[in-house]
Amino acid sequence: MMREAFAGLAAVQAPFVFTQSNLQDFDRCPRRFYLRWIARIEWPQTALSRDHEMDLLHRSRFHRLVQQWLLNISVSHIIESEPADSPLRLWWQAFLDHPPSLPAGPRFPEVELAAPMGEHVLLARMDLLAVEPRRRLTIFDWKTGLFYPQLDQLRESWQTVVYRYLAVEAGAPYFGEPAVPADAVEMIYWFSEYPATPLILPYSAEEHASAKERLRERIAHIASLPADGFTPCEDERTCVLCPYWGYCGRSKSEEVLAGADITAGQADEWDWSDIPEFEY
Ligand code: SF4
Repeated sequence: MMREAFAGLAAVQAPFVFTQSNLQDFDRCPRRFYLRWIARIEWPQTALSRDHEMDLLHRSRFHRLVQQWLLNISVSHIIESEPADSPLRLWWQAFLDHPPSLPAGPRFPEVELAAPMGEHVLLARMDLLAVEPRRRLTIFDWKTGLFYPQLDQLRESWQTVVYRYLAVEAGAPYFGEPAVPADAVEMIYWFSEYPATPLILPYSAEEHASAKERLRERIAHIASLPADGFTPCEDERTCVLCPYWGYCGRSKSEEVLAGADITAGQADEWDWSDIPEFEY
């Protein structure tokens, strides 16, 4: 009886915090969005995900290293204590050999920006916001995934869309003017595997208008779904690295595993997960 009473009700409760991480989860698999961000089922460990979890830990530590370095805190003792073959050592050396070109001016590592989206909230935590007051806001993101994305793929990603949108909508206190013009914002991705070739994405008023519409539509759609509207993804290869597979009756069959390189992530999508932006 109670079950019937809730049938058809929207599963998302306002105010819900949308992020690039959960928007991307929805694109990959609506069911995963539900389990992780609405039902709040703890991220389960599985034998197949253990290596992946360790990889995420290394990536998270690299982000902390860069944050410390940006705050002028020495990190050399941390690097020296790492095993010779630690990915952390390799990534840090790449960072030192090919550092991103940081503009002069205030730097805000791990800064959070948020803006309302109707009755919900859009939130981002940026690896670094570099400020040239009243002139430019540059968002930096450190990527430690194996794949070098196409520029178009990068431009259309939820991370780029959300971060640049929020720099305009919520970046004014950093910029130093009442409003941030879209063309004063740019985003730079630096890649540990390709440190000499960062990708730079400038922004424009047209892109900002398009981002606003895309975000509004997607958030309205997600917020309208009842619990049973968050359906499992169709492509079972998406499930290979998903820790929730036990909840979905998705087996790690030989056939499915053969189509995916577990250690490298899914070849057809750059590993946007990198480190989870928020886990709360
Ligand atoms: S196991 Fe597959 S269907 Fe289930 S939540 Fe994960 S990606 Fe979605």
